[in-house]
Amino acid sequence: MTFTNFHMETDADGIATLTWDMPDRSMNVFTQEVMDEISQALDAIVADEAIKAVVFASGKAGSFTGGADLKMLSGMFAEFAALKQQNHQQAVQSLFDNAGRMGALWRRVETCGKPFVAAINGTCMGGGFELALACHGRVATPDAKMGLPEVKVGIFPGAGGTQRLSRMVDTQNALQILLKGETLSAAKAQKLKLVDDVVAPEELITRAKALLKAGLSPVKAWDEKGFRLPSGPVYSPAGAQVWPAVASLYRKETYDNYPGARAIVKCVYEGLLLPIDAALRVEQRYFTEVLQTPEAPAMVRSLFVSMQELGKGARRPADIAPQKIRHVAVVGAGFMGAGIAYVAAKAGLKVTLLDRDLAAAEKGKAQAVGIVEALAAKGRAKAEDVAALAAAISAETDYASLATTDLVVEAVFENKDVKAAVIEQAAAVMKADAIFASNTSTIPITSLAKHFPDPQRFIGIHFFSPVDRMMLTEVILGEDTGNLALAVALDFVRAIRKTPIVVNDTRGFYANRCVLRYMSEAYNMLVEGVPPAMIENAAKAAGMPVGPLALNDEVAIDLSKKIMQATMADLGEKSVDSRHFQLVSDLVSAGRTGRKGGKGFYDYPEKPARKHLWAGLKDLFPQQDPDKVDFKELQQRFLVTMALEAARTMEEGVVTDPREADVGSILGFGFAPYTGGTISYIDTMGTAEFVALCEKLAARYGPQFKPTALLRQMAASDETFYQRFAAAA
Ligand code: NAD
Repeated sequence: MTFTNFHMETDADGIATLTWDMPDRSMNVFTQEVMDEISQALDAIVADEAIKAVVFASGKAGSFTGGADLKMLSGMFAEFAALKQQNHQQAVQSLFDNAGRMGALWRRVETCGKPFVAAINGTCMGGGFELALACHGRVATPDAKMGLPEVKVGIFPGAGGTQRLSRMVDTQNALQILLKGETLSAAKAQKLKLVDDVVAPEELITRAKALLKAGLSPVKAWDEKGFRLPSGPVYSPAGAQVWPAVASLYRKETYDNYPGARAIVKCVYEGLLLPIDAALRVEQRYFTEVLQTPEAPAMVRSLFVSMQELGKGARRPADIAPQKIRHVAVVGAGFMGAGIAYVAAKAGLKVTLLDRDLAAAEKGKAQAVGIVEALAAKGRAKAEDVAALAAAISAETDYASLATTDLVVEAVFENKDVKAAVIEQAAAVMKADAIFASNTSTIPITSLAKHFPDPQRFIGIHFFSPVDRMMLTEVILGEDTGNLALAVALDFVRAIRKTPIVVNDTRGFYANRCVLRYMSEAYNMLVEGVPPAMIENAAKAAGMPVGPLALNDEVAIDLSKKIMQATMADLGEKSVDSRHFQLVSDLVSAGRTGRKGGKGFYDYPEKPARKHLWAGLKDLFPQQDPDKVDFKELQQRFLVTMALEAARTMEEGVVTDPREADVGSILGFGFAPYTGGTISYIDTMGTAEFVALCEKLAARYGPQFKPTALLRQMAASDETFYQRFAAAA
C-alpha cells in the first residue's frame, strides 16, 4: 500500500514502522488527507497477520508533529457558519462528526489489538501528543517537547487528550497541564510516566521495538477490569481534597472567560466518573460545544492563523528578496537598547552596542548578558549560551563601528535633538544600503527621517518592554519609508522571533493609543468615585492581564504626566482632560510616581508582603456605594474604549489590516485574548450592537465613547471589519 504522507516497513519480527513524512512540509501536521491515510494504514495493519506490532515514527529530523493544521479547523468553522444558515441541527451534527474524527482514530489505535509505540523524536504537540497517549508505549529523545497547547487558542484537546492524560497522571497534574497548555520536556514527561524511556535519537526506533518485543500489552489499563484512577475516584476522600479547589482556582485564573478551559474542567470531572468510551463521548460533545462558541474561532484566527501569517511576513513587500541581516548596531545601551541587543544576539546576529561612553555601553551589554545568565541559573540556558551571547555583543563608543552594519536601531533618550544628532552621526558612516530604525515611542518617524540623507531607508521599529519577553513589535512607516526598509525591518523582526504589525506614522502609533484609552478610562472611574479595587477587578474580569492602575504604576505616573504635557503642548490644552492632569500631577507632587518610586496607585512594601492599592486613593474622590456600581458596565467600558480606539486607527488608515489590529492588541497590551482582539471583539458582537453599546456608554460617561462615522456606516449595512478590510488582509 502506498501513501502520500507515510511509508511503512515491516521487519523480520513483524514490527511495522509507520513513518510520517509529509512531502513539501518542514513539519508534519494533521490534515484531512493525513487522517484518511492513518485510517487506511490502520485497516492494513489490522488486516495483515504478518504485522504483530507498530512503531509510529516521524521522518522529520527533530520533530514528530506540530499538531493539527489549524487552518483545517478554520475551514471547519467556516463550513459550520455556512451550514448553520440552512439547517442548524444538521450543521451541529456535522460539526460533531468532524470533531470526533481524530478521537475515533486514536481509539482505534488503542483498541485494534496490536500494540503501538510512539517514537517521539522532537516536538510533539496537540493532536500528535493525543495520538502518542493513545499508543501503548512512548519513547522520546532527550530534547523532545510535548504538550496539549489547545487551550491557548480557545479550544481544548478533544481527541481523547483530557481523558487519557487524567487516567495516566494525578488529577492535579492533569488539570495543570491541560489548563496551562504546558509544554513538557522529555525528562518531565518521563517523571510523570507519560513516556516510558528517553534515549538518544539514533536509538529511538530500536528502543521502541525493544519495548514491543518485551511484550507490551495491546490493552490499555483503563480497558482492563479493575482499573484504578491515579488520584482515586472523584467521590472519595482524595477527590474531596482536589475538586472543591478546582472551581475556585479555575475562576481565579480565567474569570470564566474561556469556554475551552471551562470544558477541560468539565471533561476531566465528568469523564473520570465514567468508563473510557462514555468519557470520550462526553469529551466529543464538549468539544463540539466549544467549537460553536464565538471565542473559539476568534482565538484560533488571531492567536494562531493570523499570528503565523504575520510572523511569516504577510505584510512584506513581495518583490524584495529575503534580506540577510548579519550585523546590527544598537545605539543607546539603556533599558531598551540592552533588551534589543539581547534579542538580536540570541538570534545569532553580530551586535554592536554603542553608547556615549564605554561604561554605559558595557553596562548595557552586562544587562543583556544578565538576561541569559538568569536563565542559566534556572537551568533554562547553558553556560555556552552565556558565552556565545557575550561574544556576539561588542560594547562601543566610536560611530566608525557602525560602518559594517546592515541595520542600525536607535534607542537613545526620547528627545528630538538627541535623536537627530545620533541619526546624523550614524548616517555619516553607514553603508549605502543599510537601514536606520528608530525605537521612538512618541516622535513621528517622518520628522526624524528628515535628519537621514535617504528617508526611504528610514523606518520605526517600536519594541515593547521588557524586550526579551514581549512578542510584539510595531514597524512604523514614515511618509517616505521605502520597501527595502520595510523588508529589512520585517526580516529582522522575524529573525528575532517576534511578531510584527505594520503601522502608519501617527502619535502613539497603535498599541500605545489603545493603552492610553485604557488608563484614561480608569482615571474617569476614579474621578467618578468608583472604588479603586472595583476598577482593577473589573478590568481583570474583562480579561485584561493587569489592572489599569497597576499598569500605570509600571509605566510610571510621572511619564503619564509628561505624555499629557507633550500632548497639550502639541494639540492644545483641551486635548487632555483637566481632571486627569490634576490627578496625575497631584500623585507626582506627593512622590507617588509608580512602581519604580515604591509608591503610586499601589503601595509596594518590602517582600514578602505584596503590593496593595494605596489606601489614600479612595479619599481623593467621594466614593460611590459599591453595590450601586454596575460591575458589568465597568468591564464593558474598558473593552469598548480600547476597541473603539482600534476602530479609529483603522478608519484613519494607521492600521490597515484587521489581523494586525487584533494580534497587536493581544500581544502588545494583553487585550482580553478570549475575544480574539480589539477588532474581533467588535466583529463578534456585530457592528450595529457595538455602535448601540457605544451610544449608551457615551450618554452615560462621555464623548470618549461616541462611535465614529465609519462605524455608523458599517452598522447600517451590518458590515464587519474583516469584510470591509478584507482586501488589505
Ligand atoms: P534609557 O534612558 O534607559 O536609555 C537611553 C540610553 O541612550 C542611555 O544609555 C544613554 O546613555 C544613551 N544615550 C543618550 N544619548 C546618547 C547619544 N547621543 N549617543 C549614544 N547613546 C546615547 O531609555 P529607554 O527606556 O531605553 O528608552 C530608549 C528609547 O526607547 C526611547 O526613545 C524611548 O521612548 C523608547 N522606548 C522606551 C520604552 C520603555 O518602556 N522604556 C518602550 C518603547 C520604546
